[in-house]
Amino acid sequence: MTHDHDDYGDAGPMAKLPVPDDVQEAIRTLIRWSGDDPSREGLLDTPARVARAWKEYCLGYQEEPAYHLSRTFEEVGGYNELVLLKDIPFQSHCEHHMAPITGKAAIAYMPNERVVGISKLARVLHGFAQRLQIQERLTAEVAQCIWDNLQPQGVAVVIEAQHGCMTGRGVKTPGVGMVTSRLIGCFLDDSRSRKEVLSLMGY
Ligand SMILES: [Zn+2]
Repeated sequence: MTHDHDDYGDAGPMAKLPVPDDVQEAIRTLIRWSGDDPSREGLLDTPARVARAWKEYCLGYQEEPAYHLSRTFEEVGGYNELVLLKDIPFQSHCEHHMAPITGKAAIAYMPNERVVGISKLARVLHGFAQRLQIQERLTAEVAQCIWDNLQPQGVAVVIEAQHGCMTGRGVKTPGVGMVTSRLIGCFLDDSRSRKEVLSLMGY
């Protein structure tokens, strides 16, 4: 049975992206370092595929996440209650091992006259996640971006994720999740608001 390249997911937006020789050579070096032979048939196209995959994992460097919050709706009919988007799946990569971080996020804010289309919160998350990250900074960057751009009464971000560098190497603890949170404004200052948002998020 033969496979064409599409079987390996090479039909995406990056399919035609040229990969410079030095980038391919770096990946060949890594394959050799790992103990395999980059000149064997199954690995011949791997350097170009890996390089294109990394461009895609790191698409966030090519965008400014705050852009997604630039179009707001001010006619909210006096709705100044909690807005919450939860169980948003995301993938990122840790900056220490370049291993996958997979998880879900809950993002909430208490508007102050301005609201944004709900899908935009997920776009902000992906804009920061598609970079080399640590989970704590990802959590803080998402919260700060919403705080700075929507100027709400409060922002709460909770991220729960598994780290490939923990599940696949080192201490090898599959199934262990790490939870990080960042609370700003009313969610930090007012214990009733904090309890309400965390319980709606399921924490
Ligand atoms: Zn790591």
